Amino acid sequence: MTNELFEYKNLAHTVYFGTGKRHKIPELLNSYSSTFAIGTSRLDPLFSEINQQLKENTLIRFAEVIQHVPASLVKKAMRAFEQAGCDSLLAIGGGSAIGLAKAIALETGSPIIAVPTTFSGSEMTNIYGISADGGKKTGRDDRVMPSHIIYDPELTAGLPPKLAATSAMNAMAHLMEAVYATNNNPVTYNNSLLGIKQLLKGMKLLAAAGSLTPEANEHILFGAYLAGKCLGEVSMALHHKSAHVLGGSFGMEHSQVHTVMQAYVLAYQWPSLSEQIKKDFQQAMGHSYPPAALQQIAQAMGASTTLEAIGFKEADIPEAARIMAANPYPNPTPLTAEGLEAMLRNAFVGKID
Ligand code: NAD
Repeated sequence: MTNELFEYKNLAHTVYFGTGKRHKIPELLNSYSSTFAIGTSRLDPLFSEINQQLKENTLIRFAEVIQHVPASLVKKAMRAFEQAGCDSLLAIGGGSAIGLAKAIALETGSPIIAVPTTFSGSEMTNIYGISADGGKKTGRDDRVMPSHIIYDPELTAGLPPKLAATSAMNAMAHLMEAVYATNNNPVTYNNSLLGIKQLLKGMKLLAAAGSLTPEANEHILFGAYLAGKCLGEVSMALHHKSAHVLGGSFGMEHSQVHTVMQAYVLAYQWPSLSEQIKKDFQQAMGHSYPPAALQQIAQAMGASTTLEAIGFKEADIPEAARIMAANPYPNPTPLTAEGLEAMLRNAFVGKID
């Protein structure tokens, strides 16, 4: 893309990246009096290590985390947050733990320190999502943007290879849609291409070793940071809409849907992309047809690459296509129920056009 005439909103935050950076958490918390500490019981040892190093601050632990942040959980957490008189939030975990902190920040405006343990990217965005009545309400609000984000590779090192693979593909989906975002800018564009290269490097190492080696982990985590940053800076399109519909209306698991869908979505977008974007995608992915590269890397990591394999029902395709085509939004290729149905049929059987 050219460097002429662009707008770029830089969200206020500080990032700490590197092995051992989690030791920064107590120092950051010491400027608050009481912190609501969200994260599953898997992380109890880390929370108690942090607790021991606090001076004036008191940690109020909240270990209940549910994917897609149900409104009932937000209500329960809000009550506990208010009863304890907390003035800040610490979320350690994947997008679900960070999502709960965001839901509280949306109501209270309290600052969030986010410490990701997956590659979801939520920690780098001002996007929130709360689910209720079979749907998910999402929006953007700068109050939910974490003020400090700590990326410590030691916290993602233990991810089981399958989860690491689908979580990395989730990050890849953010980068892919950032490349062709209709409100793009040169900063985000170049970061998204760099992120794709980093992720692919890490994913190839993961595929070759069959595990998340330290080198694979560092490349993927850096790529995931760039992916979250891009997700926060530009708007997403069909891929995210498809993940939202398949997850929200059909109960499919978030990172698996992302993993399966992006190859077929990129194939749907491909004819409408500019020659420059196509060339940049090809160069970043080292492949003449990037949709095939996405499917191949997911397969190489042992992840599912068809909707059938992750339990989606073929009979639901027309309804899913109908929902995806409703409420149009900017997308490189025009959205039609017919076209989306064909895309979903390809995704069901694993056919790349
Ligand atoms: P998640 O947070 O639900 O975590 C998935 C599973 O992995 C959980 O069981 C969790 O306990 C476990 N886990 C997390 N880290 C681990 C580790 N290091 N080792 C072992 N197990 C670990 O899933 P996710 O994919 O991180 O996040 C998905 C959620 O985040 C969805 O609700 C999605 O909509 C949301 N999300 C939001 C944004 C945003 O910008 N708001 C961005 C991306 C995702």
